[in-house]
Amino acid sequence: MTATIIDGKAFAAKVRGQVAGYVAGLKERGVIPGLAVVLVGEDPASQVYVRNKGKQTVEVGMNSYEHKLPVETPEADLLALIGRLNADPAVHGILVQLPLPGHMNADLVINAIDPAKDVDGFHISNVGLLGTGQKAMVPCTPLGCLMMARDHLGSLSGLNAVVVGRSNIVGKPMAQLLLGESCTVTIAHSRTKDLPEVCRRADILVAAVGRPEMVTGDFVKPGATVIDVGINRIERDGKRMLVGDVHFESALAVAGAITPVPGGVGPMTIACLLANTVTACHRATGLPEPEGLTA
Ligand code: NDP
Repeated sequence: MTATIIDGKAFAAKVRGQVAGYVAGLKERGVIPGLAVVLVGEDPASQVYVRNKGKQTVEVGMNSYEHKLPVETPEADLLALIGRLNADPAVHGILVQLPLPGHMNADLVINAIDPAKDVDGFHISNVGLLGTGQKAMVPCTPLGCLMMARDHLGSLSGLNAVVVGRSNIVGKPMAQLLLGESCTVTIAHSRTKDLPEVCRRADILVAAVGRPEMVTGDFVKPGATVIDVGINRIERDGKRMLVGDVHFESALAVAGAITPVPGGVGPMTIACLLANTVTACHRATGLPEPEGLTA
């Protein structure tokens, strides 16, 4: 058996198209959704992410506000900027690019963002809302994984889901979202005993580990849907390349469907950031939730 390859690039383009449609509708009402991205310091990877976010924000018709602060910026100045963005009615979404420099407390900074504008879904209020099944801003990467799983499988109700990884930004919210879809959810991590056996119970297997190609075909139940969140830069045969947390070839031979790396979960993350911004704008404007863009 060879699995269906879930095309995250194409799916992300479809989501961006939906977002652009909602932005056009908002513009007819005189509202332009605005996303503010704050970058502290000059981390090269973060600079690339921020540039891509800004470009895609503008492409779907939204306003993009970039705030680049020097690495030595005092934490109080960053908090003051967040306060101004919270109060600015033209800004519907605020994202502070992580990681922050060592002298800043990331929890304090994230929790200073107005939860209604917290398009990364990391504010403690949004974590609590998601955990209690209430309307939240949902972290972008797990939201993208959920959208792809729903698109491929339809109803997820009653399926066994295993999430490998328990980070606050991927593993835990992913598990909450799958629970919200009435999956039977197992969260595995570095202390899990007999990980391959645990993973083989999964109808939906999500790998968010940060270890190149750790999840091999013998972890996969025949026919399962495998979602690979991992982004690992490795060198092989003298070439630099990007691989996931799943060993693609061996999993492809067993799974029913699989997301590739690159071109799977990655492109969905920014698409979901734009989706969250349009959702935040709809909520701020008192409009109904945009269909198909939320959890
Ligand atoms: P973290 O390092 O924060 O978490 C990794 C998790 O994997 C931890 O819970 C850890 O367990 C678990 N783990 C580590 N080693 C093992 C092992 N041998 N067996 C079982 N579990 C293990 O990573 P993130 O959640 O931030 O990211 C995970 C991956 O997703 C990374 O590759 C990252 O680059 C990628 N990523 C991709 C995004 C995208 O847009 N596609 C966005 C965000 C992340 P424990 O808690 O016990 O230490």
